[in-house]
Amino acid sequence: MVRNRPATWLVCLALSALIMADGCAKPTTVPNSDPAAAPATAPVQTPVATPPVPPAPVKARILAVGDLNPHVPIVEAAQTGEKQWDFTPLFAHVRPWLEGADFIIGDLETTFVKDYPFSGYPSFNSPSVFVRDLKAVGFDAVTNANNHALDYDGPGLIETANAIDAYGMPHTGTARTAEEREKTLVLDVAPGLKMALLSYTYATNGIPLPQPFMVNMLDPDLIRSDVRRARQQPGVDLVAVAYHFGDEYAREPNEEQEKFVTLALEAGADMILGDHVHVLQRMEVRQVKDEFGRDRKRAVAFCMGNFVSAQEGLHRQESYMMAIDVKKENGETTIEQVSFVPTFMHRYTVNGQKRFRTVVVEKAIKEYEAGKDPLITAADYALLKEAWADITAHVAGSPEVNILHADSPVSLSGAK
Ligand SMILES: [Zn+2]
Repeated sequence: MVRNRPATWLVCLALSALIMADGCAKPTTVPNSDPAAAPATAPVQTPVATPPVPPAPVKARILAVGDLNPHVPIVEAAQTGEKQWDFTPLFAHVRPWLEGADFIIGDLETTFVKDYPFSGYPSFNSPSVFVRDLKAVGFDAVTNANNHALDYDGPGLIETANAIDAYGMPHTGTARTAEEREKTLVLDVAPGLKMALLSYTYATNGIPLPQPFMVNMLDPDLIRSDVRRARQQPGVDLVAVAYHFGDEYAREPNEEQEKFVTLALEAGADMILGDHVHVLQRMEVRQVKDEFGRDRKRAVAFCMGNFVSAQEGLHRQESYMMAIDVKKENGETTIEQVSFVPTFMHRYTVNGQKRFRTVVVEKAIKEYEAGKDPLITAADYALLKEAWADITAHVAGSPEVNILHADSPVSLSGAK
């Protein structure tokens, strides 16, 4: 947005009136239609027979998942040697989806602090190679404003951010400096398509912020101004807001969640990626006219559940991947389809040892029925059928939200 430049605006208005254009980003490129105005010495140009071809539409499928909580039993199951871990088997079943989508985002809910033991509630701490493995299986960015961000206070937050950086994973939601907080994370979703990603949390488990900039909190004014700024940033096509909010284990959103979803959408966000409550809350497609006058479809997930966690119980093992298919054409980016893939944290044993993996429910059911997956027991199969019935009945919160049935994912941009 150009501000305090009245001369530019006057030129813009005049040119708009002449050429009926609704933008004035590059007024100097407007062709001079008066041949008499051309200097006499100008070389003769060959007339162009065909109008310029507009760029081809860009399509992309963005996937978002809920919380990534590498709890201690998961860390133990992933250990391969002295101070060595391999978390990639956790994702083996869903990996084609993660790698096939054009872009994938998850909420990283732990810290990486070397001088403390690995730990679960109340102070999460895990080996940082978890991030290496998230990257290896296809994750493109993580959000990390959540109630565990300050489990090891300010120094722990800084060490965690440094560890995520060390693996080259883009992240947003916490900040080491005031300057870092003011910088909007802008990501290349596909060639020619950029998305700004923001992240906020309802609380930090009672641990006071060492500096006000360190964790993005659910502050209406902060969110509004961040979303507006992201929306106006040159080149940004989409704005995604991740919210860590809601009442734990509540399957319906509370009033605060409703309020913050509406607030971000009206300020210009295109999608809301909700997490935190450890169980599933619904998805919605909403038609919203934002304060920029953009009247269009928005994608909302109130809570996508535990994508990775050692929590036990049908509802706590359920999650979903939200798939948002977008199209950019003539400079306008719209949401074409919003769907979800039911997933489940499968707990199993190998040689008496606990193991974990996130499975695509529909595929796991089919593979068991075809006798192709020896890791799934009859009891697991019954649980998967129950999860399928529950997730598919609970998640679609508006008629436009569909279940994504597919044996394998596809990259819509063709770039992957
Ligand atoms: Zn949480």
